[in-house]
Amino acid sequence: MTDLLAPRALTFSVTKNLAARSPQERDEILANPGFGKFFTDHMVDICWSEQGGWHRPRVQPYGPISLDPAAAVLHYGQEIFEGMKAYRHADGSIWTFRPEANAARMQRSARRLALPELPTDYFIESIKQLVAVDADWVPMADGTCLYLRPFMFAKEAFLGVRPAHKVAYYVIASPAGSYFSGGVAPVSIWLSAEYSRAAHGGTGAAKTGGNYAASLLAQQEAYDNGCDQVLFLDSREGKYVEELGGMNVVLVYKDGTLVTPDSKSILEGITRDSILQLAEDRGHKVERRNVSIDEWREGQASGDIVEAFACGTAAVITPIGLVKSNDFEIGSADAVAGELTMSLRQELTDIQYGRIEDRHGWLTRLDA
Ligand SMILES: *Cc1c(COP(=O)(O)O)cnc(C)c1O
Repeated sequence: MTDLLAPRALTFSVTKNLAARSPQERDEILANPGFGKFFTDHMVDICWSEQGGWHRPRVQPYGPISLDPAAAVLHYGQEIFEGMKAYRHADGSIWTFRPEANAARMQRSARRLALPELPTDYFIESIKQLVAVDADWVPMADGTCLYLRPFMFAKEAFLGVRPAHKVAYYVIASPAGSYFSGGVAPVSIWLSAEYSRAAHGGTGAAKTGGNYAASLLAQQEAYDNGCDQVLFLDSREGKYVEELGGMNVVLVYKDGTLVTPDSKSILEGITRDSILQLAEDRGHKVERRNVSIDEWREGQASGDIVEAFACGTAAVITPIGLVKSNDFEIGSADAVAGELTMSLRQELTDIQYGRIEDRHGWLTRLDA
């Protein structure tokens, strides 16, 4: 859609927040940020219209967005987002991980949701602009980061059902503490029998809010059954493993092979892709194919499957201890984290935090 219109110069106007938090207030927040609770002093905003293409890129004070009550997103959910992190290295420099992959995925999500595609250079520049004004919000402590949330939605005030002619793109940022302050403990996951996350031909491969809305009730069911997360199967046969509400799944076999579901209705995680690359670099075989829940169940019972983990940007890698359903259980709630799981986690985070060589060229510097 937008490629027909040459993007304008990448000149962001910057309006400083005169009510920015004091260094002391900021330090208090950074001492214990949790996840997704506090936001930095600024945000990025770029407009798109059918006639004008992408225009008015700006950095402005963080604050409420004014929307017409008829804005299409509020009625028909035309929205997409991304999730990535800014990491502070030991020398103080600030980096992010594979932003071109997030940009490309946001373009794929945009196509599926009939939204305009934000060019990759705009996407990456938007992240750099925000981190430039809010650099002091990137925490230093081990395992912490600044979580970045780019998102795009239909803001045209129109109740007819068609792709909106006016769209907004924003980036907000939220400091995040170490996800596992008490060590990496395996989680229990609930196998949803009744609900699907995404349908064949639906929006499962797009990072769109609607997929999350569809997962909330099943997530609630997981909590009610004493589990931390929900695992979804394919919507057609209810047989093949897809993913968790917001994380991909990988199984480790005793011969060292890593197996991950291949499906058009799962979200292609950048964390998963990177971990599988690291495993291949170590000589492990990697298979992307259908995996039935029976294969997982029988494999774990026979000792063929020795580790299972979930992965995504927020938590990086979470070992899966137990899968629980109405009819059976796989594994055990007090399983210990798998050895390969933990060493891949260590290697990936060592690259992200600049502790070992970035041999794949995955890092982009944000503060220079
Ligand atoms: C974002 C997301 C993931 C993980 O993707 P990463 O790029 O690794 O963060 C997995 N599944 C779903 C449904 C997601 O929304």
